[in-house]
Parts: sequence; structure tokens; C-alpha cells
Amino acid sequence: MLPCSGHLLLHAPSRPARAARLCCQAAKIKPKKGAGGKKGFGAEKQQKQEPAEPWEEEVLAPYKVYYKPNFKPPRYTGPIEPKRFKDGSIGVVAAEEVTGAELLSVSQPLAFLEGAMGSPPSVEDLHVAMLEAELGPAVAKILSYLPHKPSPAAAAGTSSSSSTDDPQQQQQQQQQQVDPTAQELPPSMMHLQPAFWGQVQQGAGGLAAKKVGSKQLMRLLQASCWSEEFQDPAAAQVRHERPQGFIGVWPELALLRHSCAPNSSVVVVGKHMLLHATADLDPGTEVTFNKLGSVIAAPLAARQAAHEELFGRPCRCSRCSLEATLPQETAQQLQALHAAADGEWPQRLQAALEGAEETDPEETAELLAELQAEVAADIEEVDAALAQHLPDREDQLAVLCGAYAAYDLAWQMEEVLAEEPDLDKLANCVALLRIFARGSESHLYTALILHQGVTSRAEAMVGAVQAMARKTQARQRRLAAEMQRMAASGEAASYAYAEALSCRYGMLPQEGLVPQLEQGLAMFYAGLSALSAAQGEGLDEVPEVTRNLTIDGIPVTVVDTVEGSAFAQPGEEGSQEVVQRKGGKQQQQQQQQRGLRVDWLEADVVEEGGGEEADAAEQQQQLLARS
Ligand SMILES: [Zn+2]
Repeated sequence: MLPCSGHLLLHAPSRPARAARLCCQAAKIKPKKGAGGKKGFGAEKQQKQEPAEPWEEEVLAPYKVYYKPNFKPPRYTGPIEPKRFKDGSIGVVAAEEVTGAELLSVSQPLAFLEGAMGSPPSVEDLHVAMLEAELGPAVAKILSYLPHKPSPAAAAGTSSSSSTDDPQQQQQQQQQQVDPTAQELPPSMMHLQPAFWGQVQQGAGGLAAKKVGSKQLMRLLQASCWSEEFQDPAAAQVRHERPQGFIGVWPELALLRHSCAPNSSVVVVGKHMLLHATADLDPGTEVTFNKLGSVIAAPLAARQAAHEELFGRPCRCSRCSLEATLPQETAQQLQALHAAADGEWPQRLQAALEGAEETDPEETAELLAELQAEVAADIEEVDAALAQHLPDREDQLAVLCGAYAAYDLAWQMEEVLAEEPDLDKLANCVALLRIFARGSESHLYTALILHQGVTSRAEAMVGAVQAMARKTQARQRRLAAEMQRMAASGEAASYAYAEALSCRYGMLPQEGLVPQLEQGLAMFYAGLSALSAAQGEGLDEVPEVTRNLTIDGIPVTVVDTVEGSAFAQPGEEGSQEVVQRKGGKQQQQQQQQRGLRVDWLEADVVEEGGGEEADAAEQQQQLLARS
């Protein structure tokens, strides 16, 4: 079977919840109530006064959310401010110089819905939940400022407006469909001041009540909500939580406009969203984000259609402008490459692999080799055509992002067919991801695999050189040259990985936190593979995944085991939680519904170095209670 698709996890806001259950759950370890005796107020206070790890002092306050499950980072707005552009739409620009990986905002959702991992609640689910929860006036007011998908009437107006010659009428129509509110933003919102968001939490705060109708709310959610199949997997591991699928509305993110080569990324931990710059920005530069989900990895026509549908105007980003200059023939080649990689090729790969058990292995190998050659030839053809038209490699890469699926498939096939992935193919994927999905979980994951691949190959090479020590000088020289080449690509891979890491998580101290997040990520993907394998094997065996953590300076080994019954038969509805801030109180509505059981993993915790298991588990509970 195909390796679990951890590669392209980009999510269109309106993307329906995926039917297939994703295959992994992290362990959730809850401290037992009363474990360790004293659990009173005094005991907790004492715990809080414990000295922090040396690296913790270097951690910027909001980043504590990566490792403290109960930490609630306050809302924060960095050097950015909203701006209304000439076409009437609202966006966000850098208010001063911003460096790459800088924290731009820490945001809380206006509405948030959690579902099972791998299948987040749909836009419809969120729509129903928000209507049922009765929006407070302040929430409704803020929502009314956020981008909406044009109404069908406005969209119809667009097509007819192209025939009108009256520029004033055109502008009016454009304004209507771009922004149904077309009103001045309150000054406090223009500066994204915490005071403004505070009003949301404290009730109306002087804001006039504004009714948001059902249809309007739906159009707003289609253009302004954010959904992922799981919260940040690394932070979830470090926080001892399960990453769940979620959907929500974060106003700061909703205000950003789309670009197909965006310069910001988000990481969602629990309900908190941290927005980071993924490039250096001069004052006044617009901060952009991918609002098209996986369509961002499609060629120009598909992106324009999606952007037009969501925002009522075409995308005018640098990548789109560049791609628009392609000769028609090249554009068609790119389109064909994307179409094959998005449909026919994966189907053929799947069919060949599924049929492998019944048919002659040689026949399967032949089918796969044939497919691989076809993919490689088509990629090469488009590459060559582009090189003729665009001399600059960066420009070529920007256009090639539209055929990312082909590059992704090419390296996945290499991984399926060969023992180890083709690192050059993998490096191509990283180069493309850093253009259209910089700082995304896919970018980080792919950069990590590349980094690990290059590192392990370099280690193998050192071994080979040592073994060759007594061989001929010519052989040694050849190896030395190869070593130099490896060192260069190793440096490039390390840099690419470090960049992906900082674009996703911000600038963190290298001690303590980064290794924990890395370990969490590795653990998460190990879990994905184990569960994927368990699914493939009909869950006859219960796989175990071991991870080593350091909690309060004590090395701890956590063993996760997979429980099969749950994802074999998912129920109709998941366990969902709705949080609405209304009337000064955070109203929590917990809907524990029958059906889906997501307790796939059980965690057995044992302290390193052996000892009685029960004692070790109890000690672990105490440790967790403290942390
Ligand atoms: Zn674009």
C-alpha cells in the first residue's frame, strides 16, 4: 500500500471532511486525580515555584504553549496592521521591518470546533454550531468585517459588469461583491489592538449589535475559516495531547489576503494560532497567506478559478503574474502534468501495488517501472520547456509548483520501489514547498526526511571511506570527491531543514525545546506508519511505538500501542466541542456524542532504567502533574 500521505496536507477552507480516517493517534496521558497524594492548592503552588529548565528562560512567552498544555498565551499582535486596498478588500501589511520567522500574532478563535483526527468537522458543521450557539453582538460585529465569499447575486454581477463600460458602476459592483460591509474599520481594529479583541471577550463593549444571517455566515466561513486534519503534531506530542482535526475562525488570519507564494504560516496548538513571517518583510509589504488549500499546488487556471469563487476577484500575486507569461503550449504541458499526477498516475500506482499479491511479481515490477519512467519523462519535458522560456531557476520553480503532485509522486515511487528515497527528487520537493507552503507541516516533514536521508548517506559514506582506507589511491580520491559533494548537499539539506523549522515554530532556543519538538514529530510519523501498516494488515498485530522524552530532566520512555477496533468502524459523529465567547463568559458546550470512539492508543509509561512498572507509572503521573 501507499505510504501514509503525510506529504501534502494542505487544506482548503471549504474542503469537506475526508471520509477516510487518518491512521494515527498520539498518546494522551492524563495525570490521575489524586496520584502522588498531595494535589491540594499548596502542592500546586509549590510545583509552580520549581526552577525552570535553563533553556526555558530563553523561550519567548507565547512559545510556552508548545510544551505547557494548560498555558493560555494572551492575544498578541506584532509589527503588522490591517489596510484597505484600492479594490476595497482588506489585507494586512508589515508596520515596520519584519525578519523571517518573526512572530506576527497569537490569536484565539472566535469559533472553534474539534473533531476526530484526520477528519475535521466541515464548514457546514461549524455553520450549524455557530448558529446554535447564538453569536454575541461583538462576535457578530467582528465577523461582519471579515472577508466573505461573494453572494450568488454579486457573483452574477461580476460577469455582467464585464460588459458595462461605466467605470463607476464597475467599481461599485466590485466593492459590493468584494466586501459586503464596505465600511470603515473601527480604529482599534485597524491596529489589531488587544483592547478591541478584549471587547469580544467582555461582551458588546459598546459595539452595536449586528445580526449575521445564516447565508451570510456561510459565505463568511467559506472565505474566512481555517481547518486542518490535525493540530501541530510535534507540539501535541510534547504536550501529551492527541492532535485533532479542527475548524475555526481566527480573525487575524482571516484578514490576510491570499498569495500563491505566501510569506506567512500558522501553527495551531490546542485552539491557539501562532502566525509567523516566513520571509523578511520591508515596512508596507503585504503579509500574505495561502487561502486556497491544496489548489495552491495546481496550475494558474485552477488557482484563478478558486480565488475568483472565494473572493470575487482574480489573484494577482507574483507567481500568477509569472505563470501568465507562459506560452500556451507550455501552460498546457504543465496542466497535463498536474492532471496526470493528480488522477491517473496515483490510481495506476495503487492498482499495481494492490494487484501485487495476486499477479506475478515480475509483472508488477514491470508496471511500476513503466509508470516511473513515464512520470520522469513528463517531468523532464516540462522542465525543459520552462527552461527555454524562463532562464531564472527560481522563476522556473515558482511555475513548477503547479505540478507539485508530479514531483511528490516521483519521490514517493522511488521510496516504494527502491530501498531509500532519491534525495535529489526529494530536494526538488523541498524547493517547491518552500515557495508555496513555507513553514507548513508538509514543508517541515519533507525537509526533515531530506535532512535525515542526507545525514545517513553521509554516515554510510564515512564508513565506506574507512573500509576503503587500504585500497587504491584512485579509489580514495574518487571517494573524497564524492564526500565533498555530499558535504555540500548535506549543508544545503541542513539549511533547508533549519529554515522549515524556524518558519513553522519561530526562533526557538536550540537547547531543550527544538529537540523535544523534533522528537514529537518523529514520534508522530512513526505512529502514522505503524497505524498505516496495522490498517494494511487487518490489525492482526498491535504495533508499538516507543518514544523517549525528557520531562523535568528525567528521561522517560513512553510506549504507545494501537487499539484496532476504533478506526475499523468509525461512528457517525465525533466528540465535538464548541467554544463561543459571548457576553463576557466563555461558554463551553461539550457534546459528547455516541458513536465514534477515538481511543485508539493506550499509553503505557515506564521510567527508563526498569523498576516496578506500577511504581514507574505512578512516578510518571506525578511528573506529568508537575509539568
Ligand atoms: Zn496567485
